[in-house]
Amino acid sequence: MNTPRHFSSCVAEYDPNALPVSAAQDIVRQWALPRGSVEVERVRLFDALDRVLAKDVISPINVPSHDNSAMDGYAFDGAVLADAGLEGRVQLTVAGKALAGQPFEGRPLAAQCVRIMTGALLPPGCDTVIAQELVQRAGDMVAFGTAGIGRGVNRRLAGEDLAEGQPALRAGRIVRASDIGLLASLGIAEVTVQRRLRVAFFSTGDELRSVGETLEPGSIYDSNRYTLYAMLRRMNVEPVDLGIVRDDRASLEEALRRATREADVVISSGGVSVGDADFTRDLMNTLGDVAFWKIAMRPGRPLAFGRLWSGARAGEGESALFFGLPGNPVAVMATFYFIVREALLAMSGAARHALPMVSAISTNPLSKRAGRTEFQRGIAERDKAGRWRVVTTGPQGSGVLSSMSEANCFIVLEHEAGDIDAGDSVDILPFDGLI
Ligand code: AMP
Ligand code: MG
Repeated sequence: MNTPRHFSSCVAEYDPNALPVSAAQDIVRQWALPRGSVEVERVRLFDALDRVLAKDVISPINVPSHDNSAMDGYAFDGAVLADAGLEGRVQLTVAGKALAGQPFEGRPLAAQCVRIMTGALLPPGCDTVIAQELVQRAGDMVAFGTAGIGRGVNRRLAGEDLAEGQPALRAGRIVRASDIGLLASLGIAEVTVQRRLRVAFFSTGDELRSVGETLEPGSIYDSNRYTLYAMLRRMNVEPVDLGIVRDDRASLEEALRRATREADVVISSGGVSVGDADFTRDLMNTLGDVAFWKIAMRPGRPLAFGRLWSGARAGEGESALFFGLPGNPVAVMATFYFIVREALLAMSGAARHALPMVSAISTNPLSKRAGRTEFQRGIAERDKAGRWRVVTTGPQGSGVLSSMSEANCFIVLEHEAGDIDAGDSVDILPFDGLI
C-alpha cells in the first residue's frame, strides 16, 4: 500500500520541469484506487443509466428461453434433408401454425411441417426453418429444393444470447442504454451499483466574478467552475460546488478543509503556477502531501496532485484526492480529460477502457514542439473517400475557450512529434460518442 509523503518522489526520475503526460497518468493511476465495494446501493433499472455496477449480474434465465425461429417460413425435422440428398426436393404437409406467443400444439410427423413466424417456438421434433420465399406452396403442401439448406438453419437456440448462470454484465461496467434493455430482458428490476463519487470543486482568483456580478476593470467572469460542473455531470459523479475562493491563505485553507470533509475528490482551478503565492504550496503541504508538477503538455503545464486531510495535519481526519488544475480555461478542460477523468473512473469502480483515438489527415501544417504532448483543437470531417480529415480551429492559446466550442475533436500530438506538415496523419479524439 502506498504511504503518504510519496507524491514528489514519484517523479524523481524525470525532469522536474517536464513530466511526460504518460508518467503523470501512471502516477495518478497508482493513487486513484477504487473505494471498494463497501459503499454500494441498489437502484431501479430506470435509475441505473451511467452508474457503475458493483457486482457481476448473473443471468437468472436463458435468453431466448427456448429454441425459436429466426425467420418467417416453415419449421420441420431437418432429417428429411439427408434423405432427399444434396440436390433433392422435399415435400411436406402443413400441419398447422406457430406464432410468437402462440406455439403449435402437438408434435408434427416426419412428413409434416409447421407454418412458423419469427420468434415463435420451434415445435417439438423441428430443428430447421426454411424461409417462406424459398418454398412453393399448393394447398396444404409445400415443396422446396434442398440445395444450400443445412440442417438447423434459421433456428435461434435457447440461451444463445445469454445462458442461465453466466455473467450477463460484469462489475465495473458503466451501464448503458443497451445494458438496461438487456437487464430488463432478464427480468431484473434492480441492480447493485457503486455510490456516486463526490467531487468538490472551486475556482481561485481575486480577479474572478460570478455570473450575475458586475465586472470592474481587471476582473473576469469565472468560467472554469461552470465547465468543471458540466464535465463532472457528464461523468455522472456528484458535483459539490464550493464557489470562488479568494487568493489568501485563510480562504483557501477553509475551502480545502471543507472540500476534503465533504468529498472523495477535490478539484481546484488556478493558483498553481510558479508565480503564485508561496502560501499555496505551504498550505497544501500542511494539509496533505501535494506535489507541484510541470507537465510536458500543452495546454495544462502546471498541476498540483496529491492527497489532502481535513484534520490539523496530514494523515489526520478524512482524506480526499486532490487535483489543482491550471487557471486557463482550455488547460482546465485538457487536464480534466487527460489527467483527472481516468482517476474519477477508477475511483468510481469503473473498469478501464481506452479512449477511442482515430487517425486523420491534417489539412494544414501544425506547429508542434517535440518533448511535450499537445492537445490542439480541431474540426474533423470525413471526406468523400471516407477518410477523416482534420482542420485546426486556429489560435491555440490556452485561454481561448471558443476554440473548444468550435472544435469537435482534440488533435493529440504525441510527446516526440515535431511539426506536422499538411497531409500528415495525426491522431484525433472525437468529442462525441454514440451511446
Ligand atoms: P492562474 O493559474 O491562477 O495564474 O490563472 C491563469 C489564468 O487563467 C489567468 O489569466 C486567470 O485570470 C485565468 N483564470 C483563472 N481562473 C479562472 C476561472 N475560474 N475562469 C476563467 N479564467 C480563469
Ligand atoms: Mg489565479
